[in-house]
Order: sequence, then C-alpha cells, then structure tokens
Amino acid sequence: MPEGKNRTRDFGNIYRLIYEKKQCSRQQIAEELSISLPTITHNLALLKDDGLIYTSGTFSSTGGRKANIFRCVPDARYALGIDITQNHLSIVLINLNLDIIDSERMRCPFEDTSLYYDNLQEKVEQFLNKQSLDRDKLLGIGISLPAIIESDQKTIFYATVISLLGNFYERISSCFIYPYLLFNDASSAGLAESWHSNSDKPMLYLSLSSSVGGAFMIGGKTFPGTHSHSSEFGHMCIVPHGKRCYCGCYGCLDAYCSAKVLSDFTGGNLMEFFKELSSGNPGYRRVFDEYLDYLAIAVNNLRMCYDCDVIIGGTVGSFMSDYIKDLRQKAITLNPFEKSGDYILCCHYRTEASAVGAAAHYIDQFIEEM
Ligand SMILES: [Zn+2]
Repeated sequence: MPEGKNRTRDFGNIYRLIYEKKQCSRQQIAEELSISLPTITHNLALLKDDGLIYTSGTFSSTGGRKANIFRCVPDARYALGIDITQNHLSIVLINLNLDIIDSERMRCPFEDTSLYYDNLQEKVEQFLNKQSLDRDKLLGIGISLPAIIESDQKTIFYATVISLLGNFYERISSCFIYPYLLFNDASSAGLAESWHSNSDKPMLYLSLSSSVGGAFMIGGKTFPGTHSHSSEFGHMCIVPHGKRCYCGCYGCLDAYCSAKVLSDFTGGNLMEFFKELSSGNPGYRRVFDEYLDYLAIAVNNLRMCYDCDVIIGGTVGSFMSDYIKDLRQKAITLNPFEKSGDYILCCHYRTEASAVGAAAHYIDQFIEEM
C-alpha cells in the first residue's frame, strides 16, 4: 500500500476492483463493494493523488449526469523479469497491465563465475538506463531459471540443465539493489500465458525448450503441489526403458520432446530447423513427425489427467502455429472421448513468457497488498 495518509481497506478494495474490471464508475463501485458514495469519493481522490488511477471520460447516459470512468494508470509501477537459460539472457520490463514496455534477448552462455554475474549486473543496469523510468516505481526483479525452486523463492532444490548451486540467490545478491526472487521458468511462463488469456479456467502449459517442463494453472495461479515440484512433465515416462534422460531415468518425455531433439540437427539452431522443415526437407519432416507422435502421447495423457486446455509453449511452442493442426490430429487418434483437438493451443508469447511471468509476481503482490 502507498505510504501514509490513512489508507484503509476500502482504498485497496476500490483499486483492485477498478484493476480487475478495467474501468468503473462510482455507482458500480458502490454496488460491487457496498461502500457509501462519500467514502468512495474520498478514496478515489487519494488514489488519484497517488497517481494510481485517472478519469477517462464518461459513460454514456440515458439521462442525468454522465458518470465518470475511472481507470488504473498502467505505468504507476513496473517490474523487471530476467530469464536465465543455458545460452541466453532475456530481460523484460512490464507495467501493471503486464504490457511489455521493452525487452532484450541476448546470447550469453551461463557460467557460475563472477565474470558472468558482473556481466548480468551490467546488462540489467544498461537496460534500465535506457528506459525513461522513475526507478522508485520499480517493484522488484523476478528471475526465471530452469530449476525447481523451493517455496521461499530463494532456494534451488534441483537444477541440472544449468549448473546452479543451492545458494545462487546469495551469490547474485551484489547484482541488484532491488528486491528479487527466483522462479521456475515453466511455471512463470504458464502464469504469463494464463494471465494473458484473462481467464480463471484451469489451463495447462507445456514448455518445450532446452528442457521440458510445465505448469498447471487454476484461478490464475500455478498449482505448486505439496513440495513445489508439481508439473514436472518432462520426467513423465512415455516410453518404458526408452531413451536416457538427463535426469538419469529412461523414457522421459524430455528425451523425446525437448527443443534439442530438433535443434541438434541444425547445430543447435532451432529456427534453422523450422526453416528447413517449412521448405519441405523430407528428412526434417520425418524427424518432426516422430517428434509430434511423442508429443501427442504426452498431450493426450495431460488432457486425460487435467481435462483442460493445453498450451504448447517454450521455444518449440513459438514455432508451432503452422503445425498445431498436425499435433491435434495425432492427439485425437489416441483419445476415445475427444472428437476435436481444439483444446491444444499455441502459446501467445514467443521467448519472453518466463521473464514476464517472473516479473508478474511483483505486479500481483502489489495489487494484492494494496
Ligand atoms: Zn527425466
């Protein structure tokens, strides 16, 4: 909550209502929250003083005085998201509407060295310096990682895709002067997609990047499971005694559907793989067909378990729009109940989803704690 001046619970409730509804009149607020009009007027003035809302014209009226429309100021606060992967670093700045103000993605192979951390600090500072941004409005930095993070959002429980030590949070403490927390990359991306869909319906996100992960969202939040380890779809066994996975087990989905399965054919360049595929290269078509066969098994299993939309995301997801029909067709043939594969959808974000989702934590917290 903004400082001082006797902000009450009504102040926060009114703000949250305008935020959720996108726009409200005094009368709508009175009806939804059962608060007296003088109290509403008082709090709207405080919200305006704090730069959190503005008047945006009037609603059309069939008679009498037209009602003012109140909206939230999207740029009243910002959050920064950083996505650290094996070979890249992505930085995004988002506002309260989760709009991407600016983003950057650069090749920057991860290594656990002071040189890397110095470089990270420098890149973030350079990125912030080029924004015309009041730094006091920056709520915090969400850092997305290919790792399982404990519920304190600081301790790394499991990480093998990149070699992160359990005390990574402490190791990067000198990089930032802003609050920061760590988030699982797939959960963050799922959250970003769920918020973008603006729906409270259950939704499942399958992340197909250099590793395979996912998230199950319900009510706009990720379902963490008992130990914050839920939705590790990459380690579901889809082929008993199958290919060896990096986790040490055999037949995991990761071994069949990570982005590497495709990009290994084009020297690690996934875009190049899809270029070849779209140009009709028969060898690549065969590889991709087999890839989709395994993906369809996984997607169908997930549909059986969760009975909700499945979003195909991660780096592979960002190239899937031309092939989603093929995947749907393969998934339908495995399912005795479904007549349509329309529940399988392409992701909205291309490469920024994880960083956006990690940053969104601070936006969510700001709204909730208002
Ligand atoms: Zn595995």
